[in-house]
Amino acid sequence: MVNEGHKDNEFKILLVDNMIVAEEKDELKVKLKEIFGYSQFRGNQEVVIRNILSGKNTFVIMPTGAGKSLCYQLPAMIKDGLAIVISPLIALMKNQVDQLNAYGINARFLNSTLSKGEITRLKKECVTGAVKLLYVAPESLNKEENIEFLQKVNVSFVAIDEAHCISEWGHDFRPEYRKIKTMIGQLGDMNVIALTATATPKVQLDIQKNLQMEEADVFVSSFNRKNLYYEVRPKKETKKQLIRFLKEHKGKSGIVYCLSRKKVEEIAQLINVNGFKAAPYHAGLDPDVRMKNQDDFLNEETDIIVATIAFGMGIDKPDVRFVIHYDVPKSLEGYYQETGRGGRDGLEGRCLMFYSHNDLSKLEKFNKDKPVQERENARVLLQEMEFYAESPVCRRKQLLHYFGEEYKEENCGSCDNCVHPRERFDGTEFVKMAIEATKQTNERFNITHLVNVIRGTEDEYVKSYGHFDLPIFGKGDQQDADFWKSVIRQTLIYQYLEKDIDNIGVLKISKKGHAFLKKQHPVELARYHDFTTDVEDEESSERAVINSKSYDEKLFEMLKMLRKKVAKEKRLTTLCCISRSFAGRDGYHLPDHER
Ligand code: ADP
Ligand code: ZN
Repeated sequence: MVNEGHKDNEFKILLVDNMIVAEEKDELKVKLKEIFGYSQFRGNQEVVIRNILSGKNTFVIMPTGAGKSLCYQLPAMIKDGLAIVISPLIALMKNQVDQLNAYGINARFLNSTLSKGEITRLKKECVTGAVKLLYVAPESLNKEENIEFLQKVNVSFVAIDEAHCISEWGHDFRPEYRKIKTMIGQLGDMNVIALTATATPKVQLDIQKNLQMEEADVFVSSFNRKNLYYEVRPKKETKKQLIRFLKEHKGKSGIVYCLSRKKVEEIAQLINVNGFKAAPYHAGLDPDVRMKNQDDFLNEETDIIVATIAFGMGIDKPDVRFVIHYDVPKSLEGYYQETGRGGRDGLEGRCLMFYSHNDLSKLEKFNKDKPVQERENARVLLQEMEFYAESPVCRRKQLLHYFGEEYKEENCGSCDNCVHPRERFDGTEFVKMAIEATKQTNERFNITHLVNVIRGTEDEYVKSYGHFDLPIFGKGDQQDADFWKSVIRQTLIYQYLEKDIDNIGVLKISKKGHAFLKKQHPVELARYHDFTTDVEDEESSERAVINSKSYDEKLFEMLKMLRKKVAKEKRLTTLCCISRSFAGRDGYHLPDHER
């Protein structure tokens, strides 16, 4: 009885707690509704917001499109004072400030596009407390006059958007981002919230160290974008493949990324000539033209935007149905962020990358004039890209693994490697050899060296370390280097080995790997991707997996027109989405020149 009474008590306390939580929750939700018009928080938004409101340093890692901005915008509205938002791009700032102003929020930006008079007025407004959010680029924050001015303002907290720019191990390093800590240090003891959509575990650590916020609460959302289909195809007859893909997705919104401005122009033209509506976007275009092309895409005057990676940051179009990488991207972070712009409404998004070794060599050449360390970092990022593209393992599993998340399903059902699985084989002995090689070389080497040791290739490193004397040396000489690279990559993905967080490229044995050495269990591996696969084969089988749903095309066109009209009347550029499915496959025709 006593026990039960005790339980009862516990129950009551829980109930009371729940009520308190419920009340607080409601209040926050009321604000959410009042200010932004949303009824629900998404994912981690609410816990993050509560954390910021309770005055703690907070580190938010959320994939693109998950709703990071709200995490600091709502607290900025609730907290007393002015929230400073550090953001890397002027265009991005303007976009956000425009959106916030449309909600009736007094948000402003401080950057080099403002006149002296505008700056003086803005500063006055900030001091009086009228402004709630101030967007600044690190370059502006670095100016003494701005620091002096901000010292006079009641600052609620500092948000650092795109925080991965801090890390030189990431794909988007901005040296001035590394000075942020010193800058905000001059404003006193500030609460800091750092946000990013891409951060490998190494980059995460680097950001926290640099901002001296190792103690911060870290909120990592799952990076899994369930509705995106990932696919890598060999870069062969690419133009033909591209047009065929577009025919299959006619009338849908999509982005085609190319590496150079020249290529952007060429591909945009190719697409137009083939009867689709495409516009180019790159930094070399006249700003007015560039803006118009972007607006046309957002307003659905243009279906397809062909762009360099200059396009996309801060673009919030929910119904992008495909993202094509015509050229190989420079890093998996970039790739993930760019593909992340597809299917933001939760509906279908196809992510197609064309891949060739040739592209990798070109990218490598771009890096040759960079300082040694930067070049080395860029090389490692490219190598990750190569592994990803050529790997037989589920794309989703690999991408998530890259960002430090374990995807447990064996088959995601929504990537080329899962839909067309590679042949599998018993890899137990190979995994063991990979771990052994790591062990015998004292966990201090990268994949290339391990492959050389296993295969018995005597290069200068093997010689200088005397690794030809190791028992494992040459034990795997029956298989080629690509085979071994693939085995070691899979051993990593299945977490028998792990990356050394302090030494880029170096592999170590994980707990699971140690356990495996003591007591083996069967491990299945997949044959690595063979990029000589017949292109036609890939495509015909790919078509079979797209679930074709039919819809009333006339009605759809009418709805689209109506949406355009309403958006124009309301002067909105970002449109909400009409749910739609893949176009009927029945109408599939090959372009004339391919028949
Ligand atoms: P991120 O910066 O993470 O890429 P954004 O902050 O731009 O994403 O948000 C993506 C989209 O989601 C925006 O259109 C935003 O208005 C919308 N959004 C954010 N939070 C919510 C929510 N709680 N409910 C509905 N829509 C939301
Ligand atoms: Zn998969």
